Amino acid sequence: MALHKYIIALDQGTTSSRSILFDHEGRIVNTSQQEFKQHYPQPGWVEHEANDIWQSQITVLLNSIKGYDIAQIAAIGITNQRETTIVWDRATGEPIHRAIVWQDRRTAPYCSQLTNEGKADLVRSKTGLILDAYFSATKVKYILDNVPGARDRAMAGELCFGTVDSWVIYKLTNGKTHVTDATNAARTMLYNIHELSWDDELLELFDIPREILPEVKDSSEIVGYTSKEIVGHELPIAGIAGDQHAALFGQMCLEKGMMKNTYGTGCFMMLNTGDVIVESDNRLLSTIAWRINGKTTYALEGSIFVAGAAIQWLRDGLELFDDAQESEALAASVNDNGDVYFVPALTGLGAPHWDQYARGTIVGITRGTTKAHITRAALESICFQVNDVITAMAKDIGTRPHELRVDGGATSNDLLMQLQSDIAELEVVRPEIMETTALGAAYLAGLATGFWSNIEELEKQWKENKRFNSKIASDTRDHMNKQWQRAVKRSNSWVDDEQTAT
Ligand code: ADP
Repeated sequence: MALHKYIIALDQGTTSSRSILFDHEGRIVNTSQQEFKQHYPQPGWVEHEANDIWQSQITVLLNSIKGYDIAQIAAIGITNQRETTIVWDRATGEPIHRAIVWQDRRTAPYCSQLTNEGKADLVRSKTGLILDAYFSATKVKYILDNVPGARDRAMAGELCFGTVDSWVIYKLTNGKTHVTDATNAARTMLYNIHELSWDDELLELFDIPREILPEVKDSSEIVGYTSKEIVGHELPIAGIAGDQHAALFGQMCLEKGMMKNTYGTGCFMMLNTGDVIVESDNRLLSTIAWRINGKTTYALEGSIFVAGAAIQWLRDGLELFDDAQESEALAASVNDNGDVYFVPALTGLGAPHWDQYARGTIVGITRGTTKAHITRAALESICFQVNDVITAMAKDIGTRPHELRVDGGATSNDLLMQLQSDIAELEVVRPEIMETTALGAAYLAGLATGFWSNIEELEKQWKENKRFNSKIASDTRDHMNKQWQRAVKRSNSWVDDEQTAT
């Protein structure tokens, strides 16, 4: 394998496609990125043209390897926006409908109907998921119900369904390969995470013919080769994982009890639960972390809707500063929050509070309150929400993790990281390479092709940039957490059903 110097990660995200070329030390050698159009045909609906996804992905792939010897590239790993649903013609590769994006809420009424019919427990026990429009199953059903003749064609084996990984691989292999991996399958709400197979009872519930489904592969194995006509070379496609799963792997959270949090618009937390499916009592999701050499590792997942977005709102809504980065110096200009608490329930509250009727609330304002206190309270609100998810995870697994590995845009804020450590009383560890999602996909592909010989070799590559330890007294921490919980109560159930509908 000495011939091979590089490995490629394709990161197919919600707003852009990226391709990153890594070297053997896991360093970034070259990158290319292209945004594509978002379609909002009705309130609550979000669509992509599947061909835009493909065109942008192949363009950045070819751009990223321009000037490099393609024969020196070992393999391709793919990571992707999850749950987004595409149905296409098996023979021609033409989509029969636009991709329905994970954010799309059009099937929410159908999900409520199923919940009222008592189906939520069945779904939960088989898939680890909460019955919600977010996941692929009801989106596939929508396409089959709404495109004339689609269900008959699906039953005749003429159509393919896939999440974005499946679609990109189908195109890269020029229609030869229709596969997905266990992590992406686990987000469709059709895959039984105990039996590791598509579930007949769920297929029947959602009226989806089995013929349409991709074959489910490990997250790290050669699933096919790129077509020479398309890429100019037959490169092995050797790693697949949904974005959060790839990030957990890229952060080398390989042992049970290790967890990562991504601080972006929202926060996405994942905790490795080893070979155990932990059924959450706190409405967290159980999911597949990855499947390697036929061995499945599971995870608990909790998502927070508004994290960095609260800082965006201070910037754009209140115009407190021009750049999110300025929040750090402003918040650091005061010693504490002045007993001001900000619950950024701008779109309701996610895990573990789950209150879609909660709304943003700032409490404890006095004559002495300044924009610095409000900004500090906003940064702290990210940390309190993360702490609430960690506490829920700790309850579910019976022990509290003491380290959190972090990535995402907002982790450049040192004060935010320090506050996180203070509020959650754990060590917050920021790695040197922040592109953990792409790195995870590269690692999965590199392991399958011998580019890297084993996981130990990868663990040596993971390097710490900075570690934050808690610096506050426990009675201060307890006071802050108590005040936060009181503030959350004030934000709860603010709007009623009619107001949410408008
Ligand atoms: P996404 O992938 O969700 O678009 P990113 O990982 O690019 O998000 O992070 C951007 C988010 O992080 C924005 O919501 C922004 O407000 C926030 N952010 C970026 N830099 C900082 C910072 N220095 N301090 C606090 N928040 C920040």
